[in-house]
Amino acid sequence: MDQQIFAPKPNDLNGPWDVAIIGSGPSGLTSSIYTTRGAASTIIFGGEKWGGQLMLTSNVDNFPSQPGILGPELMGKMREHAVIFGAEFLERTVSEIDLSSNPFKLMANGQWFMAKTLIIATGAETTWLDVPGCMELIGRGVSSCAPCDAPFFKDKKVAVVGGGDSAMEEALVLAKYATEVIIIHRRDSFRASQAMQKKVFDNSKIKVLWNTEITKINGNEKVESLDLNNGSNLVVDGIFMAIGHTPSTEIFKDKVELDEKGFVKKIKTEKYGMATSVPGIFVAGDVHDHEYKQAITAAGFGCMAAMEVLKYLEEIK
Ligand code: NAP
Repeated sequence: MDQQIFAPKPNDLNGPWDVAIIGSGPSGLTSSIYTTRGAASTIIFGGEKWGGQLMLTSNVDNFPSQPGILGPELMGKMREHAVIFGAEFLERTVSEIDLSSNPFKLMANGQWFMAKTLIIATGAETTWLDVPGCMELIGRGVSSCAPCDAPFFKDKKVAVVGGGDSAMEEALVLAKYATEVIIIHRRDSFRASQAMQKKVFDNSKIKVLWNTEITKINGNEKVESLDLNNGSNLVVDGIFMAIGHTPSTEIFKDKVELDEKGFVKKIKTEKYGMATSVPGIFVAGDVHDHEYKQAITAAGFGCMAAMEVLKYLEEIK
């Protein structure tokens, strides 16, 4: 598709921009498609590790029209699409925000940027087990990304903790390399979709330890074994986290209202469904959604936030 500029950029990279989008997963990138096509100058702070969680996923089977596409490939296409209409995409992380006046100010890599509106689309990050050894052994057998690290576990024995779709997906990827994959789950049933469960149960390399919790991860140079709450010790070469995600909202604390788990709170009004506690700041994707958490719903929320930004810009004109 040829580049088609709907939204001219300000003369100065520092702005003021009509809209700044923080985050470059499906929600942020979809927002940008809508804001630029709505003629709003748009800057995306994509982060040094841009693309969000799909960059750590292998095959995505449930994104309409793209069955089986690799996560990073899908994000590459979305990024291409997002910037084609004139958005500025920076692989920079916003470290500080000043919301005391409008335009809002955002600090990224030591430079301040200004924007009249903001879409928070920072997503969520891996939750790690809160047990001794976990944080210390990250990268040395403790991982959260089977598509990234599974080849290191060729002919080895690994565990996965969790009972959702992520745990199923991690186990299935690992089973392509490891001799044995053990899913350790704290309850006696999975919350994962039936389709994913079936794939797991049909795979002879994958075993499940039900009603079991990990109390310690042992190892010096690398993971050697796991202590379990039934008093036993399980020898493994690696352990993959699949116990959910924590919203990336550190920079918004005390500035934008968050819920008790740290997700951005949506403040619905008559006019706006994706608004936050600060007028002119909207939210989209996993940073506010702990229910659906799908690429397609994140994209949908991105569209909604962008349409509301356009409405808001029209109002403050
Ligand atoms: P999730 O559905 O929230 O599942 C998290 C799992 O971790 C649950 O089974 C939970 O146990 C367990 N858990 C949480 N805290 C724990 C702890 N401290 N110790 C031990 N276990 C703990 O998260 P997810 O699997 O990452 O999935 C998130 C969303 O993304 C879901 O909507 C999912 O459908 C979607 N997703 C889809 C795909 C796909 O379609 N290909 C792939 C990945 C994710 P309990 O069950 O006991 O609560």
